[in-house]
Amino acid sequence: MSLSNESLNKEPSSKPSANTSRLNGWGNYPTIKSSPLTIRHTQDISTAIKTFQQNKPKILPPPSLIASGLRRSYGDSALAEQTLHTQTLNHFLTFDATQGVVHCAAGVSLAELLNVFVPKGWFLPVTPGTQFVTIGGAIASDVHGKNHHLDGCFSQHILNITLCLASGESIICSLTEHRELFLATCGGMGLTGVIVSATLKLIPIESAFIQETTWKTENLAETLEQFEAHQNATYSVAWIDCLTTGKHLGRSLLMLGEHATEQTHANNLKTAPPSKLNVPFNMPSALLNAFTVKAFNTLYYHKTRQKESQRAVHYAPYFYPLDSIQNWNRLYGKKGFTQYQFVLPKAAGLEGLTKILTEIVNSKRGSFLAVLKVFGAENANYLSFPMEGYTLAIDFKIDPTLFAFLDKLDEMVLHYGGRLYLAKDARMSEAMFKQSYPNWETFQTIRQQYGADQCFNSLQSQRLGL
Ligand SMILES: Cc1cc2nc3c(=O)[nH]c(=O)nc-3n(C[C@H](O)[C@H](O)[C@H](O)COP(=O)(O)OP(=O)(O)OC[C@H]3O[C@@H](n4cnc5c(N)ncnc54)[C@H](O)[C@@H]3O)c2cc1C
Repeated sequence: MSLSNESLNKEPSSKPSANTSRLNGWGNYPTIKSSPLTIRHTQDISTAIKTFQQNKPKILPPPSLIASGLRRSYGDSALAEQTLHTQTLNHFLTFDATQGVVHCAAGVSLAELLNVFVPKGWFLPVTPGTQFVTIGGAIASDVHGKNHHLDGCFSQHILNITLCLASGESIICSLTEHRELFLATCGGMGLTGVIVSATLKLIPIESAFIQETTWKTENLAETLEQFEAHQNATYSVAWIDCLTTGKHLGRSLLMLGEHATEQTHANNLKTAPPSKLNVPFNMPSALLNAFTVKAFNTLYYHKTRQKESQRAVHYAPYFYPLDSIQNWNRLYGKKGFTQYQFVLPKAAGLEGLTKILTEIVNSKRGSFLAVLKVFGAENANYLSFPMEGYTLAIDFKIDPTLFAFLDKLDEMVLHYGGRLYLAKDARMSEAMFKQSYPNWETFQTIRQQYGADQCFNSLQSQRLGL
């Protein structure tokens, strides 16, 4: 069945445009000069790729072209000399209302999708911590949410993808059709081609609200015990106080969630109004210092007095608390910030997390945002980040000594058999990447098979030796 909203079915038609501007990811680091190609029509993608291939100089390394969505990846994965901006490709194609299966263009954002489908009683099967990412970006990073332990990654709910290859030809891939290409594209950071559209299975909901239970824990050991005790909760995430040490190291607020039912929130399928709060320019970076961050962490931890508290909360503040302030990334100042997100296998659990967290707390670099989640089983994609275990994500303001400090953390992550998330990365070394992503060679072989290595490259792929 086609969606009734006509405007959603129409593709805007205009030609790709090219000029040069400075581009960066969400962390505002690094910044490069790039020629953005704005795609308005699906055919523009093939034209832009063919034009790039015909005009590229025969030099090594090859010049870089990469697709970008809403540039919510923190580092340099969506940065290249030429960038194909896909967010204007935001039309829906078909919707099967009996199965909740939607086929849409890759530039549709999760926010746009929720605005259309929440009132109809459908929700995303997996969602990251912002709704301002595109379907293409969510597939390319194979994003995870607070339900990874039960429902896996975003790609595990994708039925098929239409991918435009380095030749300009489009093909459909899925777990059963061009399987290798599907496994390489999901989590493949745009390096196999440009995702044109995708078919996604949504989940039914009775309410736009989430029934949230918050557990206050005293330390990291208790946090992990609580995760274990609530492994059947649909959603779980812990905010960690990353400045308190000693016996309270890793004290947290563990937030569990379930979709509310009709009984608890009858007929409430409303979406949230857009945020009016904005950070209009880069803040002086001195605003974020050990004192202000400590004050925030202490206040946040004590926002609830009880050991266990419950409330019903709309999905927007539950899943996307940071979206309530537009351009919040400017709080970190002109030099920007990076998010360090690593995963450790379950066996490394408490010991590994304690060692790494202690290093971070002692450095006094900890930030407002430190989030711990549990991952379930790893999927078959070659470069997807999650493995069964624990993942911690922490923001760090960029300063001249930060990267040497993060190199030290890298060694610890490697020692425990973990890895870093490519969607957040802006600085990992080639050696670290190749040691921690064991399927990178298979990934590269598939890229070569489809000629993608001679066409789709980003600042990140060049740094990682892909
Ligand atoms: C506040 C915040 C919270 C976040 N929370 C989470 C989280 O909980 N879990 C999680 O997994 N991630 C999280 N992220 C990261 C985010 O989900 C990913 O970086 C996502 O890929 C961004 O999508 P985008 O549309 O902005 O893509 P971009 O950032 O523009 O691009 C990201 C990658 O996707 C590729 N790409 C984009 N569009 C296409 C396309 N059409 N075809 C081929 N490749 C394409 C790019 O080449 C690039 O490699 C968060 C980010 C922010 C800012």
